Amino acid sequence: MQVTFKVTRYDRATGEKPRVQSYALDLPEGATILDGMMRIREEQDPTLAFRAACLRGVCGECTMRVNKSGKLACVTRVASIAKNNEVTVEPIRYIPVIKDLVFDMEAFLWRKIKAVEPWLKPNGGASDREHVLREEELAEVRKAMSCYMCGLCDEGCTVIAVDGGFLGPAALTKAYRFVFDPRDHARVERLRHLSEPKGMWDCTHCFEANGHCPRGINPTDRIFDLRDESIRRGVKSGAANQQVARHYDSFVASVKKSGWLDEGRLAIESEGWTNVAGLLELLPTAVKALQRGKLPMPYLHRSRPGAEQIRRIIERAEGKPS
Ligand code: SF4
Repeated sequence: MQVTFKVTRYDRATGEKPRVQSYALDLPEGATILDGMMRIREEQDPTLAFRAACLRGVCGECTMRVNKSGKLACVTRVASIAKNNEVTVEPIRYIPVIKDLVFDMEAFLWRKIKAVEPWLKPNGGASDREHVLREEELAEVRKAMSCYMCGLCDEGCTVIAVDGGFLGPAALTKAYRFVFDPRDHARVERLRHLSEPKGMWDCTHCFEANGHCPRGINPTDRIFDLRDESIRRGVKSGAANQQVARHYDSFVASVKKSGWLDEGRLAIESEGWTNVAGLLELLPTAVKALQRGKLPMPYLHRSRPGAEQIRRIIERAEGKPS
């Protein structure tokens, strides 16, 4: 198969701007992107830098962006992804590159993974010296344990795209693995930490992480599990993140009142009445929405049919007698 690899080259040491270099290859049918990259390095350009280890899709080392999509190069067939006999190969996004396809793992993943304290925290009692688990006790975390930290979920994350400080689905998946481990005794403390700004409540549930994970771990679902557990354990939604807490409180109050979500009220109360700068920032969007008839006047919402029943359902969920 005749194919041209268009590879983005860069070297932090020289400080030169990234450039695209083309390599013409004749590859066997069934060749992978990594086969092509190794062929380039062995036969055409020994300076090309990339990471790879297992060559079997189990180590997560060879993460790259191929034809604008995050992939594991060792399990991505050239024939399945080439367009007009070309493939583009770039480093994954949002991360400082060291050289060519080699990015800075510390800046990308390790700093965030370390922030969730990825080790068991036993209570220090005698019972923690040995804690043999039955298979079913570990079932919940077994899937998350198979994460090989390829970072593809972070690469696809729409929040990291605009806020590099967000913990991200990879670190939150790691947090999940310890929060739900029955041997760990710091569940509530961990959930409080994850509720801080840039933590689990910043996820916008776009589900991109699920679509990007090659292990089928569904990181977005794991974030939901963490949030559910947080609510179950009484760690108020974003206790350390007041904007998130206000958002959820306003959401419930609005639906309880009229059976609908009052978007105008939600935006105002999420920002907070005292946050004048934040409220002013909302104004242009609010005016445009009003002009197009997409924003009913806040607080003047008409109740929908069945609103009373909806209110009773919410109160029952809140534990109030109906
Ligand atoms: S959760 Fe999936 S996509 Fe994210 S780092 Fe782990 S294996 Fe990779």
